[in-house]
Amino acid sequence: MLSVSGLDVAYGRARVLFGVGLEVPAGSLVCVMGRNGVGKTTLLRALMGVLTPTAGRVVFDGEDVTRLPTHLRVRAGMAYVPQGHVSFPQLTAWENLRVTLEATTHRDPVAVDEALDVFPALRGLLKRPAGFLSGGQRQQLAIARALVARPRLLLLDEPTEGVQPSVIDEIEAAVERLHREVGLTVLLVEQYLDFALRLADRYVVVDAGEVVRAGAAEELHDEEVRRLLAV
Ligand code: ADP
Repeated sequence: MLSVSGLDVAYGRARVLFGVGLEVPAGSLVCVMGRNGVGKTTLLRALMGVLTPTAGRVVFDGEDVTRLPTHLRVRAGMAYVPQGHVSFPQLTAWENLRVTLEATTHRDPVAVDEALDVFPALRGLLKRPAGFLSGGQRQQLAIARALVARPRLLLLDEPTEGVQPSVIDEIEAAVERLHREVGLTVLLVEQYLDFALRLADRYVVVDAGEVVRAGAAEELHDEEVRRLLAV
């Protein structure tokens, strides 16, 4: 579904990604791992067109989207949940979902219900301003907002970051359901190894802006990965 090759990305003169290539087959859950600062978020931002690569190609569903603006990638079926549980803090949870719905092409209100079915805990919080939700609740809202667009590929940046353990379990269960039951394709950046190991079909390890290992999750030996991820 997503095929990335030879991707170079820089902030000004500082090159951060060097010839990154990876494949996300339809229906898979691929986990990108790596230490802090190796370029994982930069990769997701380049895949969504928030950053423009200086070289390389991003192909989504057979279409070269390398130069496509972000909103057209979203329209094509890509969704991105950045790090930090982003939502409009003054708007209620419900308004956050409605605003997102207005920006979709389908505008089908049933999509809001479908997103809430994935995170039923949000139903009791719909009147609350997003800024007053806990980190875990905001993360669930952020993913729910992405789902309102009915994407085919979901890019998730560290959904467990700043989230308490009980909510991590809920988020893990939701991502698993989306992947296994709904068949959503997921590209997940995650440093929380156990979460990644339980969910991923395939993995990619990034180090210093390069892919240093990739493969099927069942080939993944904890100790090898831990060595690559060790600080
Ligand atoms: P990761 O997600 O793996 O922690 P990032 O993609 O956030 O890594 O960052 C990769 C490198 O790019 C780091 O060295 C970071 O300092 C640098 N970087 C990130 N964002 C910017 C920016 N907006 N401007 C300049 N450098 C940045």
